[in-house]
Amino acid sequence: MLRTWPVHEADQIVSLFTRDYGKIKGIAKAAARSRRRFGGAMEAMTHVRASYAEKPRQDLARLDSFDIVSSPLSAPVDYARAAALAFFAEVLEETLPDHDPQDAVFRLLVAVLAHTRVGTVWMPVTYFALWTTKLMGWLPELGGCVQCGAPLAGGPAYYHPLSDGLFCAPHRRAGSSTLCAESQALAARIVRSPVPALAGEPWPRQRAADLRRFTIQALERHIDRRLLSALALRRLGA
Ligand SMILES: [Zn+2]
Repeated sequence: MLRTWPVHEADQIVSLFTRDYGKIKGIAKAAARSRRRFGGAMEAMTHVRASYAEKPRQDLARLDSFDIVSSPLSAPVDYARAAALAFFAEVLEETLPDHDPQDAVFRLLVAVLAHTRVGTVWMPVTYFALWTTKLMGWLPELGGCVQCGAPLAGGPAYYHPLSDGLFCAPHRRAGSSTLCAESQALAARIVRSPVPALAGEPWPRQRAADLRRFTIQALERHIDRRLLSALALRRLGA
């Protein structure tokens, strides 16, 4: 479940990211009143088994009921965890086209959700931001300068709000930001490691903050708007 919009009476429009059919939108009639059919499942990032029917020539599916597979509210929530969950939901709502199955993105989401706990949000947020950028096809090879191909490992690299990828020092543009060598190495590990492989490490909010800014900037450039949830994460110092 990505998000809901109230419509007239107690009806709600719901955006769902389904494993088999990608993102779909449907209408849940009387959802605000019917706890029996939708009870407790209208929270963003709730994993549900949805019963619904699609009709030809209609934009909205008819949602009949949800069974909760897992709810983000079954574990404690603080401001940082709520901001991380809102970030996952907003990124997917904004980047996924309707009716386009994205099995790799679905598996990414399930994996990061399992590790997004109070006190451990920065690893899953960083992992999700980098991998979403990659799966959308917006992440060039990070090992070299996108302009001249010079290898970047070992020193700082530079990124710019209007360009994909990283630049060497001679090719950095005015207004660039720095991605430190440690964060570049971490990005390379994230790309070749499953989520659990990184879960045992300490991730204070300062760790890879530059990598999060780099990937969030790439996402915002491609959807052509700012992510409100990224602003909330930034207020937390990340
Ligand atoms: Zn260069």
